[in-house]
Amino acid sequence: MQVKRQTNGPKTEAPGAAASPETETIVADICVIGGGPGGLSVAAAGAAFGRKVVLVERHKMGGDCLNYGCIPSKALLAAGKRAHAMRTAAVFGISGIDPEIDPRAVHNHVHGVIAAIAPNDSVERFTGFGVRVIPAAARFIDKSTIVAGEYRIKARRFVLATGSAPLVPPIPGLDSVPYFTNETIFDNQQRLHESYGIVDHTNDVLHELARAETAVLRAESGERGIVGLAGGVLHEGQSIIAVRHKE
Ligand SMILES: Cc1cc2nc3c(=O)[nH]c(=O)nc-3n(C[C@H](O)[C@H](O)[C@H](O)COP(=O)(O)OP(=O)(O)OC[C@H]3O[C@@H](n4cnc5c(N)ncnc54)[C@H](O)[C@@H]3O)c2cc1C
Repeated sequence: MQVKRQTNGPKTEAPGAAASPETETIVADICVIGGGPGGLSVAAAGAAFGRKVVLVERHKMGGDCLNYGCIPSKALLAAGKRAHAMRTAAVFGISGIDPEIDPRAVHNHVHGVIAAIAPNDSVERFTGFGVRVIPAAARFIDKSTIVAGEYRIKARRFVLATGSAPLVPPIPGLDSVPYFTNETIFDNQQRLHESYGIVDHTNDVLHELARAETAVLRAESGERGIVGLAGGVLHEGQSIIAVRHKE
């Protein structure tokens, strides 16, 4: 499938549009913004129906799911479950052992799983479907036109599949301690010991936290939404009001 190209863009700029650095205008039936699972599904389906589809992704194909969500988290969970099974094998009559964990090797396992799945979401695969993939950030300049990198893209329909980003809650003191989000935790290659609390706003579950070594989360009764921990005890339905280095 070929998309129609116009090498000379419109002469008039939309109000508020920046000076035009783009060199090519692409006209398509569907322009999908975001190459995560949502955008990829729509792009593949549109191309399968013979539509002219352009997909714009500003960062990594596969979006959160492949790179910062479903895939790395399940790979990490698999490693954790294996270690747990080794520790608790005694119930099956097998000597339990405390496995030695190499954080760098676990990191490599996680990224190996991502790399194995990445071809499914790749530019090459979607290009093969007939989707024109543009690796750039999209922004609208009018209701039927976006600019992405050096391209101007006009489409009958736009699909916004731009996903989400982690929210760092405005907890006093949080900036004074190291913390991870789902966009950074899977790049970690160091042992965390028992110094991190995990706040999972989506599931209302605080998965795991042992005694804090570098940081302490202080919790107080409060609104539901963020689960807090004090002194290693789970307290659902509480709000974290502060985080500070352990004294
Ligand atoms: C830790 C974790 C574990 C998860 N586990 C699971 C699971 O087991 N099962 C499950 O079903 N879901 C899981 N999810 C949720 C899943 O990751 C999301 O539901 C899914 O990624 C959403 O897909 P999406 O296409 O809507 O958005 P995203 O995957 O967020 O993709 C959006 C894409 O849009 C791009 N983008 C944004 N703005 C622009 C722009 N202006 N121009 C160009 N591109 C842009 C971004 O770079 C991104 O690649 C998990 C999420 C997390 C964080």
